[in-house]
Amino acid sequence: MKLNEFRKGPHLSASSIAEYMECSLSYRFSRIDKLKPEFISDNMTFGSCIHQALADFHQERIMGNILTKDQLQERFAYHWTIRASENKEIKYKGENSFDSLLEQGKALLRTYHGNFSDENITVLAIEEPFRFLLDNLPIPIVGVMDLVEEDDQGNIIITDFKTAARSYTEDDVSKNPQLTLYHLASRSNGYGDRNIIMKLDVLIKTKTPQFKRYYTARDRWDEIKAAKKIIEVWRGINKGVFIPNDTSWKCAECFYKGACNDWYQEAA
Ligand code: SF4
Repeated sequence: MKLNEFRKGPHLSASSIAEYMECSLSYRFSRIDKLKPEFISDNMTFGSCIHQALADFHQERIMGNILTKDQLQERFAYHWTIRASENKEIKYKGENSFDSLLEQGKALLRTYHGNFSDENITVLAIEEPFRFLLDNLPIPIVGVMDLVEEDDQGNIIITDFKTAARSYTEDDVSKNPQLTLYHLASRSNGYGDRNIIMKLDVLIKTKTPQFKRYYTARDRWDEIKAAKKIIEVWRGINKGVFIPNDTSWKCAECFYKGACNDWYQEAA
């Protein structure tokens, strides 16, 4: 089934849960009030185009082809041009521009390609949609896993691609909530009897681009803690608890600053 069909009814997703936990008022503006964002983020559009290029790369692997470095860069240039070249709503941060991000994306993917090896690894799925239920949660959790592979020992490897400004810390990896959800989803969607390895493949936007791979695992306790938090998120949404978190990192690039200011004035 396609992700769009999973999304038709009420549901939670990794991004909606994270958004509620970071700033529940922003969650309300985007997911309940469905306000149009005040701008489109260059960073998010850029990250999405990197994801699309990597999805193309791994799709070709399924068909037995390995794209060359140049072809992978061309895939990014194609997606970036379609999404950003004529898009006046994109707000470029600092020195960023269409051209500078085009070059940065190509450089990051050159680095990715230089580190790529698929020895003894088989691709099972790319952009794999999932849907699962948790005890005591009346709606499903839906999402999509970037890449699902299997090694020659029969282990399942779930990868999430990231673009980031810096390297990840141990906590960033071991507590990444998205990976915990993917672990739950994998166990509920056919991989319950397999050993599941999780990893983050991170493209780091330093002056000289870097690629870092972080392996991690999740256990039953991680899943119990995640489930408890998700149920509390659902309760908060149902009870209409939406509180601005104005010390959040999100404030600097919030899509709803105007609506947030209005909210404060209404509340006063
Ligand atoms: S500006 Fe900050 S507090 Fe206000 S909605 Fe956005 S993220 Fe939340």
